[in-house]
Amino acid sequence: MGTALTDHFGRTATDLRLSLTDRCDLRCTYCMPAEGLPWLPRPDMLTDEEIIRLVRVAVTRLGIREVRLTGGEPLIRPGIVGIVARLAALRPRPVISVTTNAVSLERLAAPLAEAGLDRVNVSLDTLDPDTFKTLTRRDKHARVLAGIEAAVLAGLLPVKINTVLMRGVNDHEAPALLRWCLERGYELRFIEQMPLDAQHGWDRAVMVSAAEILDWLSRAFVLEPEGEAVRGAAPAETWLVNGGPAASGGGRVGVIASVTRPFCAACDRTRLTADGQVRTCLFAREETDLRGLLRSGADDEEVAAVWRVAMLGKKAAAGIGEPGFVQPGRPMSAIGG
Ligand code: SAM
Ligand code: SF4
Repeated sequence: MGTALTDHFGRTATDLRLSLTDRCDLRCTYCMPAEGLPWLPRPDMLTDEEIIRLVRVAVTRLGIREVRLTGGEPLIRPGIVGIVARLAALRPRPVISVTTNAVSLERLAAPLAEAGLDRVNVSLDTLDPDTFKTLTRRDKHARVLAGIEAAVLAGLLPVKINTVLMRGVNDHEAPALLRWCLERGYELRFIEQMPLDAQHGWDRAVMVSAAEILDWLSRAFVLEPEGEAVRGAAPAETWLVNGGPAASGGGRVGVIASVTRPFCAACDRTRLTADGQVRTCLFAREETDLRGLLRSGADDEEVAAVWRVAMLGKKAAAGIGEPGFVQPGRPMSAIGG
């Protein structure tokens, strides 16, 4: 068996999505119910020490080159700055990024950048404070905007913005969001809504599709596809807007069409939940326990071997919406989005 995280379909995982917590300070309607979820009991969660050890195994023995911290909301994990500093001290040093709702980013952007954070992806679905309140069930739009500005000041560039459009809620905002991002040098990516909400409320017939988004955008901007060479293993298909970054008023926009144009064949990801379970895919129905292995005294090579075997079970495709598709038992916030 080789050393890399290779599956039966010849894909190699080099990108680790690491969930720091399943908790969150927002309640986005497409993600969580208003009352929250039964959170993981603290003793079940990986400690900071266990997280660093697992990532060390991943970068030294399994070929992981990039670590994205997510959740739940990763910035509400108390030790996040220390975790980033310790990840940045690993050799080979992984590229470290965070996906966040930015509610706490104003306070944390500078310390995180100093600790070694390389990049930040901020989720922002609307420019309107009232719509934000409807979508996230919290009145924190201003804090998110302040968090994004703090990320820019801290040099966490380019800031990427992730947007999920919900029909009849914020779908009319697609061109305005793109214009807002272009004016500020942020890279916007629209994400098709996926069946990963705890409430199982997803409906393909209602979901806003990539084709619709592109149609709306192309009425307001000149879009030019960048093609496969640029996409690589990245899930976003990208378009140059109004001539691209060099031209004034231009830039780039991405669409992550997990439902209508899945990118499973190029997937380079492995995932670790906040309670130490390896998942081969967001939509996997199986998990492999590394926390129990660590706590029973396994050495690094044993942990690496179990992780490699887990990846061999990765399915060819997620098959969202196909006959027989079953939504995974855990929602996105508990898996790590
Ligand atoms: N709390 C952080 C945030 O919102 O950025 C990180 C975790 S969140 C689960 C990661 C990303 O998943 C966010 O951009 C969010 O919009 C997206 N997301 C959550 N539920 C989704 C769903 N059902 N379909 C598509 N994207 C979803
Ligand atoms: Fe929280 Fe992110 Fe889910 Fe929104 S999408 S409820 S911010 S975990």
